Amino acid sequence: MSSSPVTTRTVQFRPQSRNLFFHILTQCNLHCRHCYINEDEHGRGVLNQETISSWLRIFSRSELEVEDQRLKTKFSPRKECVAQETNVIFLGGEPTLNPALPHAIREARALGFRSITVDTNGYLFHNFLDKVEPVLVDNICFSLDGSSPDVNDPIRGEGSFDTCTRGIREALLRGFNISVIFTVNSLNIHDLENMPDLLVRLGVTRFFIQVVGIRGRPARHGAYDLQVGYEEWLAKVPKVAHRAAQMGITVNYPKVFLSREEEFLCAGLEADNYFVFPNGRVYTCPLSEDHPIHSFEIRDGRLILRPPITELDLFGLKIPEGCVMNKILHPENIPYDEAKRPLYKVACCMVKEEVTPY
Ligand code: SF4
Ligand code: SF4
Repeated sequence: MSSSPVTTRTVQFRPQSRNLFFHILTQCNLHCRHCYINEDEHGRGVLNQETISSWLRIFSRSELEVEDQRLKTKFSPRKECVAQETNVIFLGGEPTLNPALPHAIREARALGFRSITVDTNGYLFHNFLDKVEPVLVDNICFSLDGSSPDVNDPIRGEGSFDTCTRGIREALLRGFNISVIFTVNSLNIHDLENMPDLLVRLGVTRFFIQVVGIRGRPARHGAYDLQVGYEEWLAKVPKVAHRAAQMGITVNYPKVFLSREEEFLCAGLEADNYFVFPNGRVYTCPLSEDHPIHSFEIRDGRLILRPPITELDLFGLKIPEGCVMNKILHPENIPYDEAKRPLYKVACCMVKEEVTPY
């Protein structure tokens, strides 16, 4: 193949930008081995239309109505954004299982959110594609963890590859913008290199590569063997991303590791991200989600800052290992030299490399 030019850049946190990761239910028809949903911590509720509208309104306001000196001084980057600067991502569980999803999308559009994404496992329940017009949704992101049923289905469930790829084809036919997300783990990293060809065959031009996190189901089952090591990640993921970009696909993947010299930034301090769950918990770091250390709660339609100790109190700790939540939850991930200095830093999971076809 001729080598077409590609561009790689690190995508840090965008100033004046807010991201709302809105879990509108936790239930799902699948039981993926790496699923991060933890119903004990996130609830089993299914949000109705009224609640979704009310919660969307909270995050569409220019200034979140959290009056607390702690936020204003220690966490000054939590800045003012309006709906036009807020991206909403509807997730679950499987969000299309919630019949209120089309309403949620219309409501977010009416409130003026900058972009609307739906993350789905591809089953597209309740005839989802019949209920919304492509112009209402900026992106439908389909989850696939293998380039064939042989790799995908043992991770995500029998028949899920065929159903998901059928959903992708149908969505493209109807004119939706779509993308695919692949969660790299020890069971499928060997197959990542086959994904660009599959994506080209399907007509997909946007690809997100994610790294498995040991939270939710894998944490409960002690499935540490799903993790992928430093060397293997660096040897495989950037190469596949580069090749996919040469084939016309834009790829995002987490940076994961930083050299000792590279700058470390924590999204909990620098960015404005909210991970909202049906029981009203609102986290600002996805790694915290297995623990009751959420920063906020939604009560009676208001966002309430929780008293210490929460994740907000941990982000400011400066450690040579980089990400403080990783150090607390997964200290085994970090190798040290003889002088007990970490060999590398763990990057914030929200920092991405983006490889584009030109
Ligand atoms: S599709 Fe998503 S929510 Fe459902 S089990 Fe898989 S990872 Fe969990
Ligand atoms: S993943 Fe680590 S660096 Fe990123 S927000 Fe959480 S604590 Fe901060």
